[in-house]
Amino acid sequence: MTGWKGRLSALLTSGKFPHACILSGGTPSLRREAALYIAAFLNCPDQGEKPCGLCPACAQVAQGNHPNVHLLAPERDSLKIEQIRGMRERLQQRPFQPGAQVAILEDGHKLTEAAASALLKILEEPPPDTYILILAPQAPNILPTLRSRCGEIYLGIVHGVRERAQAYWEGILEGDLLTLFDRLLPQMEKEEAIYDLLLSWEEFCCEGLKQGLAHGEKERGQYFLEIFRALERTRKALRYNANLRLALEALLWGVYILREEKGVKVNS
Ligand SMILES: [Zn+2]
Repeated sequence: MTGWKGRLSALLTSGKFPHACILSGGTPSLRREAALYIAAFLNCPDQGEKPCGLCPACAQVAQGNHPNVHLLAPERDSLKIEQIRGMRERLQQRPFQPGAQVAILEDGHKLTEAAASALLKILEEPPPDTYILILAPQAPNILPTLRSRCGEIYLGIVHGVRERAQAYWEGILEGDLLTLFDRLLPQMEKEEAIYDLLLSWEEFCCEGLKQGLAHGEKERGQYFLEIFRALERTRKALRYNANLRLALEALLWGVYILREEKGVKVNS
């Protein structure tokens, strides 16, 4: 077993799996898959390789109806305090079936402030035999007070994201207005791994910056530094739940205007 399953399996087998944990990286569907894998592992009675995938408990987890597994998704775009309170009540009861209670918070970065403080109270005095899994694109998306009480597992960069990042990059640096806003923007909006894409572009910027400096092209270095800053601002905005489309629009406008001002030929 390799990759994230192997890492999770080793951690779960060691008995050191944290009772509160942030799962970050990957796509939303991968984070969900990993959370359900953990829930199945903790509830599968099989003595051999867990989760066996065959027993009634594993089947229930896979179908989303295991009584010990509580999945919370945002309602109208945020995770609300009522949802966290409901979760606490269920966690305080004994597990309904042998195994452990597992609460999975999808989109943990969408917790309202009130919901986050309610969750913090649970993390301060966790009920026995319970595990709370907080899913988010990146761990820094989660409030520091919560984060300090959680273990962190990074599921890794999404497969193929670098190749996609490269394909976008040329368009961003050279595309005309139509390409930027009619073609790239709608595509970027649909990307599940937008954070990973932004990170890849930041890497490309650093590369451009280094090359500019190495060749004594200050202007070119400055150009990539500015784009780097714009990318950082976009990531920060998204971390604070900015509207994705607006954040990306601001980024593309920023890069476009910079291109016009500096007139840097990036492929020279
Ligand atoms: Zn099983």
